[in-house]
Amino acid sequence: MAKSPWSTPITEALRADGIELGGIGLGDIELGDIELGAFDTSATPGFRGDKKSGERLLAERGPVLSDLQEKLFANGRSGDPRNVLLVLQGMDTAGKGGIVRHVIGSVDPQGVDHAAFGVPTAEERRHHYLWRIRKRLPRGGQLGVFDRSHYEDVLVVRVHELVPPDVWGRRYDEINRFERKLTEAGTTLVKVAMFVSLDEQKKRLAERLNRPDKYWKFDPDDIAERGHWPAYREAYQDVLDRTSTEYAPWYAVPADRKWYSRLAVTELLIDALRRLELDWPAAQFDVEEQKRRLAAS
Ligand code: ADP
Repeated sequence: MAKSPWSTPITEALRADGIELGGIGLGDIELGDIELGAFDTSATPGFRGDKKSGERLLAERGPVLSDLQEKLFANGRSGDPRNVLLVLQGMDTAGKGGIVRHVIGSVDPQGVDHAAFGVPTAEERRHHYLWRIRKRLPRGGQLGVFDRSHYEDVLVVRVHELVPPDVWGRRYDEINRFERKLTEAGTTLVKVAMFVSLDEQKKRLAERLNRPDKYWKFDPDDIAERGHWPAYREAYQDVLDRTSTEYAPWYAVPADRKWYSRLAVTELLIDALRRLELDWPAAQFDVEEQKRRLAAS
């Protein structure tokens, strides 16, 4: 039998419990008493191969994901309330868009419910931060994708002090309760935090500035955000420490190598869908009878 391309199951290789981001992506810079370099953003955890074999495997796994998603969709059509929600978080240029395009892009769009959460609108600001999230939760049979999520309310909101610490401080427990209810109602959450190094981010931003077809992705504010890297690191560490639960674990995905992060998220979704043990829904009619009718028609 051929050796598996994975040395460790993906869910174990990337599970974020107890992970130390350390001086994530900061290279050798000294930063107070922070332990540096604990999380390697260029690593390829659990994968035995190189870029070429990773890309080849991704091409093979897209159709596997697509078949599973079709089963989920078919069951949803038959009234099954279960769904899968991919939550994508990551600093600018971490590659969330690439996941949507290259991973989610391999499945049937009618079964996908994509929601991107940017700066809240005036109306959204008048409501509780989970209001806009609840409105976009996937229905039975859907593969939901949150491109940013309620976690912004303990990340950007915390880093930029948009609300006082006692307000964002209460949100971790609240998010856990919210997610527990979601999972009890039939949602499988796949929470992915993508991490690039500061250097890799610089390269990706430079590329956006060097290519007219990428200008649209560039936001001048992204440069200022780089100055907040240590504060984001701390905020992400708290997210992983406080909201990675048994029922909704976080996966920390090194994202300097796009081929790896795309392959990893594909595998995480395949794993989540497999665990639902989906079958094709049984026919709600007598198959033989319908065959006879069709033949006679
Ligand atoms: P992206 O950067 O993901 O491609 P946008 O350019 O629309 O998408 O940027 C979304 C911005 O919205 C990010 O800077 C993000 O931090 C910000 N944002 C998201 N949620 C909130 C929130 N609850 N409060 C403040 N800012 C938020």
